[in-house]
Amino acid sequence: MTSTTVPAPSAATIAAIPTGLFIGGTWRDAADGSVFDVENPATGEVLAAVADAGPDDGDDALAAAVTAQAPWARTAPRFRGEILRRAYDLVMARQDWLAEVMTSEMGKPLAEARGEVAYAAEFLRWFSEEAVRISGDHTTTGDGSNRIIVTREPVGPCVLITPWNFPLAMGTRKIAPAVAAGCTMVLKPAPQTPLTSLALAALLQEAGLPDGVLNVVNTTDAATVVGRWMASGKARKVSFTGSTAVGKLLLRQAADTVMRSSMELGGNAPFIVCADADIDVAVDGAMAAKMRNMGEACTAANRMYVHRDIAAAFSRRLADRMATLRMGNGLDSATQVGPLIDAAGRDKVQRLVDDARQRGATALTGGQLPDGPGYFYPPTVLANVSPESELMTTEVFGPVAPVIPFDDEDEVIARANDTEWGLVGYVFTQDIDRAFDLSERLEVGMVGINNGVVSNPAAPFGGVKQSGLGREGGKVGIDEFLEYKYLSVPRRQGKLPAA
Ligand code: ADP
Repeated sequence: MTSTTVPAPSAATIAAIPTGLFIGGTWRDAADGSVFDVENPATGEVLAAVADAGPDDGDDALAAAVTAQAPWARTAPRFRGEILRRAYDLVMARQDWLAEVMTSEMGKPLAEARGEVAYAAEFLRWFSEEAVRISGDHTTTGDGSNRIIVTREPVGPCVLITPWNFPLAMGTRKIAPAVAAGCTMVLKPAPQTPLTSLALAALLQEAGLPDGVLNVVNTTDAATVVGRWMASGKARKVSFTGSTAVGKLLLRQAADTVMRSSMELGGNAPFIVCADADIDVAVDGAMAAKMRNMGEACTAANRMYVHRDIAAAFSRRLADRMATLRMGNGLDSATQVGPLIDAAGRDKVQRLVDDARQRGATALTGGQLPDGPGYFYPPTVLANVSPESELMTTEVFGPVAPVIPFDDEDEVIARANDTEWGLVGYVFTQDIDRAFDLSERLEVGMVGINNGVVSNPAAPFGGVKQSGLGREGGKVGIDEFLEYKYLSVPRRQGKLPAA
């Protein structure tokens, strides 16, 4: 049901956010004075206008990052770590403010936005602890003639590009390891959600981040602004989270200047419920894996394969739970399901649901567009979805759970792996051997075992196949921003004796 009240973000919340370009530690307008509007997807109202960078502004931002790189690389790890730790404290101290900003421009319910602030802040804390643990190696050549000293250095100025679905966490997941490693950055947030990144930049400056280390430009012309960064030869790394299509474009551009590349791309997560699963645990897991962020997550369960013996019971219980969720403006504290990001996102969901129905699926709940303003789509469970449905090969990015019955494990693994993506999979069973066996056979970078949420700053997040390259978070997250350097030091005495 849709709530009737339409709360608006407080004017003070929005007014507290800087709306310019953040270049070299200074807030400024676009060179040609351009701005673009930021919309509240729950109401369609304009929240603010932010500076719209052109190519020259983008070049200025990269120049600031290049200038700041050498002195920043020479700072003490503890200095960088303590900036991140202060930023963690500041973000948590402003949790409610940041959550309101995020909900206003992205739509997720306030409780989820607060959760994202805590998750995002944790990357700042995690990498504040990693900054002082960048280690190398010291060995000897086989014949003993040389010492091998391996050190690690920041890769250099980085291009960071973030999506709109987790506007704060996708920023800190890239910024925090780059700061810890000693890299400078140009960040281009998604045009739907620029305000959260601008607020974060202001907090990082307040935490003591030196001028030019992080530069933030919003633009409606990503292809030109980012294209120039990629072609410049001065940016040494690109870290991107977004669609597979744009990821591939950036990889092609990265080839021209041989840039290090980290890619977090799309997913098509299988969610496998075996006959011996605890159905309560599986339904809880499905709610988390499907409904977090209204299903607008690359980790969202996209295909629910449920053993035929329990498929009807599972679908019914999932539909009952989904039907109780309250849909509405995320700023209303009673809301559990917010709007989708925009009209295009909502229309794509409707098209995929219509296609599945035409191929024989039944909607146990949802499936109809509500009236009124905003880009709402109701929580929807589709039973008996045909494997030929477009939903099986397309990331739905909405609150739609297609249930597909299966009969045996070989069949379900073959279907689960029959996709070009491989980000995450979920397995529900009470048999530990089966859990490990299925996890090992899934072609994915992450598996939730009896668990619908895998994301955690302490864990390596990332996928295989066309879901991406590299990992974010965990002990390996900082590696993406470091290069090895090996120093060869001959022994004065030459080779070591054989005996
Ligand atoms: P979505 O379809 O979910 O918005 P995108 O991959 O289009 O996903 O967007 C993710 C990020 O990539 C956003 O910040 C967007 O502005 C940016 N982006 C889109 N097109 C390009 C491009 N040609 N070059 C660089 N970045 C781009």
